[in-house]
Amino acid sequence: MTRVAMLAGGVGAARFLDGLVRVVEPSDVTAIVNVGDDMEWSGLHISPDLDTVTYTLADLVNPETGWGLRGESRRTLDRLSELGGPDWFMIGDLDLATHLYRTHRLSQGDPLSAITRDFTARLGLECMITPVTDDRLRTVVGTDAGELAFQDYFVRRRASDPVHSLRFDGAESARPAPLVEEALNAADVIVIAPSNPFLSIDPLLSVPGVRELVIANRSKVAAVSPIIGGEAVKGPAADILQSLGHDVSALGVARLYDDLAEVFVLDDADAALASSIESETDMRVIVMPTLMTDVEAKMALASGTLEAARNVP
Ligand code: GDP
Ligand code: CA
Repeated sequence: MTRVAMLAGGVGAARFLDGLVRVVEPSDVTAIVNVGDDMEWSGLHISPDLDTVTYTLADLVNPETGWGLRGESRRTLDRLSELGGPDWFMIGDLDLATHLYRTHRLSQGDPLSAITRDFTARLGLECMITPVTDDRLRTVVGTDAGELAFQDYFVRRRASDPVHSLRFDGAESARPAPLVEEALNAADVIVIAPSNPFLSIDPLLSVPGVRELVIANRSKVAAVSPIIGGEAVKGPAADILQSLGHDVSALGVARLYDDLAEVFVLDDADAALASSIESETDMRVIVMPTLMTDVEAKMALASGTLEAARNVP
C-alpha cells in the first residue's frame, strides 16, 4: 500500500494521475488541485483544473485538447456570441452542466471540496480530488499591459504577454480544504506533478500551511519536470521561466523546487543536466522518459517516480 498525495495543476497533472491510479490503489491517491485559475463566467463558477483532472480520470476528457468533454458541441457558446455575450472562453455544451450545477451548489453554501467529492463519486472515481482551498484564490498576472486576471492573460490574450510578476489574490486568508493537511501528512509519497511551476504549483503553495507541510515532508517528495529539452510540452512555462529571469531548462525548474523535494525526475533528453542539478541542489536526480504519450508511458512514469521517492538512500 502506497498512499500518494499530489500537488496538481491541469493537463500535466491529469496525465500523470491517469497513470498513477493504474499503478497504486486509486483510493490511496489524493490530488490537491489548483484553483488559482478559477473564474466567474456569465455568472457561473468555473474551476478549470478541477474539471480537467476529474474529466481525465473519468475518461470523459476531450483527447484533442486535454480539457473539456469528449464529443461536446459549442452551440450555446455560438448563441451567446450572437447575443453579444462573452465568447472568448470556450465552454462546451456538456461542460456547461458541470458549471450550472457547481454554481447552484455554491450558491446554497456548499463548499467547493464537497461539491467536487460529489462529482467524483457520481463518476465512480475512487481517488480523492480536492481543491487546495474552499476559499477564494485568484492568480493575478503582472504584464506590460498591467495586472491581468488569470484567464484574461491565459485564454483571452493567449498567454502572449511576458510575465513580470505573479500574485495569488486571497492567499493570505485562504485555509487548506479539509483533506489537504491530512493527505500531505499521511502520504508515503508526495508528487509535485509535471505542472506549470508558476501558474499551477505556486498558487497551491501560497495557501498558508501548504508550503510548510510540503517542506516538513520533504524526504518523501518527488517533483517531475514539466520542461523537456528547454521547452514546455504545452503552455507558457518556458516563457515564464525566461521572463522571470530563470534558466529556461529543467535546471531552472529544479532550483525552484530544491527546498520542497528530495527527488527530481528529469527527462532522458535532459540527462546531461543531471550532474549540475545534483551539485547545485540537495535533490537526488532520477532520469527516465517523462513524455506521457500513452497509458503505458504514464504508468511507467508514475511507478518510476514512486519507486525513486521510496528508495531513500
Ligand atoms: P494546465 O493547468 O492545463 O496548464 O496544466 P498543468 O500546469 O498541470 O500542466 C502544464 C504543464 O504540463 C506544462 O508546463 C507542460 O510542459 C507539462 N506537461 C504536459 N504534458 C507533459 C508530459 O507528457 N510530460 C511532462 N514532463 N510534462 C508535461
Ligand atoms: Ca490550469
